[in-house]
This record gives sequence, structure tokens and C-alpha cells, in this order.
Amino acid sequence: MKPFDSFQLDPLILKGIRDMGFEEPSPIQSECIPAVLRGEDVIGQAQTGTGKTAAFGIPLLEHVDPSRRKVQSVVLAPTRELAIQVSEELRRIGRPKRVQTLPIYGGQSIGRQIKALKQGVHVVIGTPGRMLDHLRRGTLRLNDVEIMVLDEADEMLDMGFIDDIEAVMKYLPEQRQLLLFSATMPPGIRHLAQKYMKKPRYITVSRGEVTAPVIEQVYYKVLENGKLDSLCRILDSEDVEQGILFGRTKKGVDDLAEALQARGYLAGGLHGDMAQQQRDRVMNAFRRGDIELLVATDVAARGIDVGRVSHVINYDIPQDAESYVHRIGRTGRAGRAGMALTLVTPREMKQLRSIEQEIGDRLTPRELPTLEEVAERQQQVLAEQLAETIEKEEPIPLFEEIVEKLTAEHDPKKMAVAALHLAFADRFTSGNDAVYDFGETGASPGMVRFFINVGRNADIRPRELVKAIAEQAGIAAKKVGRINIYDRFSFVEVPEEAAPFVFEALRQTRINGARVNLEPARPRNRR
Ligand code: ADP
Ligand code: MG
Repeated sequence: MKPFDSFQLDPLILKGIRDMGFEEPSPIQSECIPAVLRGEDVIGQAQTGTGKTAAFGIPLLEHVDPSRRKVQSVVLAPTRELAIQVSEELRRIGRPKRVQTLPIYGGQSIGRQIKALKQGVHVVIGTPGRMLDHLRRGTLRLNDVEIMVLDEADEMLDMGFIDDIEAVMKYLPEQRQLLLFSATMPPGIRHLAQKYMKKPRYITVSRGEVTAPVIEQVYYKVLENGKLDSLCRILDSEDVEQGILFGRTKKGVDDLAEALQARGYLAGGLHGDMAQQQRDRVMNAFRRGDIELLVATDVAARGIDVGRVSHVINYDIPQDAESYVHRIGRTGRAGRAGMALTLVTPREMKQLRSIEQEIGDRLTPRELPTLEEVAERQQQVLAEQLAETIEKEEPIPLFEEIVEKLTAEHDPKKMAVAALHLAFADRFTSGNDAVYDFGETGASPGMVRFFINVGRNADIRPRELVKAIAEQAGIAAKKVGRINIYDRFSFVEVPEEAAPFVFEALRQTRINGARVNLEPARPRNRR
């Protein structure tokens, strides 16, 4: 890979790049920077986390003449968070060269933005709606724009910004460069490119070349009504530095954030119905680390780049593969390893399979940690905290006197146990592990036997039954136990630990086209 200084950039820009801590260009940057410097229109396609911002940002900043107090470049981005983030990265790279950047987005006072625009900024980064608003008011002029960028173009189209984008285009001068960046290339984007770009150079970074660090992708099978408990067990057994949790709906996000707070986690919610100020407050707290778990909807979390996000957790499974890819791209930023955990309920197994198929990758199944494992891990954390406090050797006057008195009368070991019990017992009270009690089903030891209301009459054969269970409940075919198929019903045994999930996944499903009903067998059904 050629180094940054092979691009003949202004030394001030090189300084900005060094200040960012970038050592060498990422693959998309190596190809984009020279093409943009040559004046070409560029379409850049690469996954999240590949450094697209600097790929357009560096040549764009190189192009700016800071002595001209005119808007010379504009960037359109799908969300306010993203506009702010891009603006911040450009501001940092462009600082030595004294390039002024400004993010504009809905939700912030327009008066304040007008004032800021009047100061004379060189690069404006905005969401399409607000950008258009300023253009129509005449508070922003694009007559001198030389480079226009559409960042996360697929997201903008998804969010219905196409009309706004085209309206903004009308304000651009005839002579300008257009750059388009996107993680995916749906037809709408190709169309946009055809309409507005001149002989665009198409630059793509294929999977193999992506410098993005490894994101470990794991899924957990959970039951709908035990989902929150399952999540907490996962959180308690993982080393989560900072995590983004995805929920399907705004209400779901609020509920989950509250439930986590109630259980003592440092959590905060983020979604589109919140006032801008509130969103900023949450984001800042998350950046500072005051919030460890950010619970967000897809839209609110788009483009968020916080370096320490160690985990992305899909509390609700994403709607499609594209959303999955965007979500997990929030971790493993800037060269760090990341974990992407997906919770899957029985009804969502099909969705998981379809996502896997589309991304061409399989998620690793992982067992939920048992209560004992969680307790063990919490004991470990507690032991570390105690040791740390002892090693600090700071006086703890509040308790020193009472301990002095008590040690005179009691065994210090027993006293420590009693003290810990008083302080922490409620942390370790074991919950109830079993959501289902199937009772006596006449199964072999360690198994649960289910009754199925169809048999040979629906052409059911053992192989199909095993396949249906393995696929729909995500268990290995060889784990399925004894099978008996009769004329009008069947029996099947599955391992105890898999039984609740199998039950929920198959209690109402189709096997071989036949609608089936599955219920725990009663021993008297046995023949
Ligand atoms: P994308 O837009 O492709 O999702 P970003 O532009 O947001 O990716 O970059 C992802 C992260 O990688 C950011 O934290 C960014 O600062 C960092 N980054 C970008 N280019 C480089 C580079 N050449 N070397 C190291 N880190 C980089
Ligand atoms: Mg980006």
C-alpha cells in the first residue's frame, strides 16, 4: 500500500492525517484519493468501517481554498449523528489547513445554523431535508461548490430522501464533481449515478480486501418471554466495554433501556422521537463512557462511530441482511476486534437463516450462560473489586471502627462472609432457570418426548421430521432422539435443554406442507 505522502497532498493535510493517527491509507482510500484529485466522479462501494469518510474527505479538503470564504464542498448524509460525525472527522483533518466545516441538520435551531453559515464556512455537511430548507431560504448558496458528496447513499434512499437529494442537485453549478459512497448498490443508486455523474469511476473493495477487523458473529437461542433475563445473563458473562443494543421499535428501545437501568446497568436509549437535545445528551454520555449500553433503533444508530464499542447486540433480530451488516459495522471500528451477538427467538429462526444466506456467512451458535456460570463470573468481579479496594490502602473511616470492635469478638473470616452476604446476597439470588416444565413425557432420561398430530397420513417420514426440527429449532440432526411415526400421529424425543425452544419453534408449523401441532407427550400416549 502506498503511503499517504505519495499522493502529493498539501503538507497541512498530511499533518491533519497524522494528527488523526492514520498510518497508511485503507484500500478504498488508496484508490479514491488519486481519482478524486484527478477530478473524476467516483462511486465508492465498501462495507462500513472501511474508511470511506477520509476517502472522500482527504481530497475534498485538499481541494478547498481556505482564503475564499465560500462553501466549496457539500456532503449529504442520512442522519444528524452521521452529519456531525463526518463534520467532526473533516474538521480534524482540515484543522491545520484552517478549513471550516459545519454540520446542519433538522432538530437544531435554524437561526443558529444561519448565523454559523454567515461566518463563512468552506464545507457543509447536512441531512438532505435541512440542506434543502437552507437552499430555499437562500441562507446557503452552492454556486461555488466544486465537490458534492453523497455519503451512505443507500441509507438515504432507504429513508426516502431521493426527492430531497434531487432537489438539492438543482442548486449545484454545472461544473462540479460528484462522489457517491454506499455500502450496497441497489438499483436506485445506479439510477442516481447514471443521471448525475459523468463517466464515474467505480471503486469497490471486495470482502477479502476489507481491512475491517474481525467481527465475531454469534447467536443465542432465547425464548420470547425470557428474553430480558437471557440478555442480562449474556451481559453479565461478557466483557462488554461499551455496547450498542438494537431494538425494533421506539417503544421497545425505551422499555429495554428502562428495564436495564432498573437492573443497575448504565444504559441509555436513543431513537427518533426524542428531542435533539436529549439525543445529543445521550450520545455525549455514551462517547464519554458514562453510558455503557446504548439502546437504539436502526435509524438512530446509523453511522455512529464510537471506537470503544466492543459489542453490538441485536436484542431484536434485524429485518434484513442489509440492516444486519450496518448494525454490526458499529463494532470493530478503527482496527479493534468486535463481537456481534444476535438473540433469536424460535419464531425468528427462519429470519436468521435468511440473513445468513444473504450475507454468505454463518453465525456461530452459543449456549446461554447458565446461572452458575453467571454467578461465578460475578463472584470473580466482586473479588477483583475487593482486592482493588484493599490494595488502594485508602482509609475507610466509616467502617474501620466497627471492624475494630467486631474483630475483637468474632472470627474475621466469618465476619467477612457475613458482611458480603449482607451487602451482595441479592446480586446472586438465583432466578428460576426453567421456563417450561413439560412434566413426565415418557421420554428416555435427559430427553423430552413430544406428540405430533400427524403421521403417515401426511406422508411424514423420520428423515423429514428430523430435518424440520434441526432446521427450525437450530439443533444438530443427531441430537434428535427416538422417533415413532404412526398412521395419524407421531412422537419425537429431543434433549431436555433444547426442548423449550423446539416446542416454541414447532408447536405450530408446517412439516411436509402439513399443518402440525406439537405438544408434550403424556406417558399414557405411549405405545
Ligand atoms: P465508513 O464510512 O467506511 O463506515 P469511517 O470513515 O467511518 O468508515 O471509518 C471507520 C473508522 O476507521 C473511523 O474511526 C476512522 O477514523 C478510522 N480510519 C479511517 N481511515 C483510517 C486509516 N487510514 N487508518 C486508520 N484508521 C482509519
Ligand atoms: Mg461512512
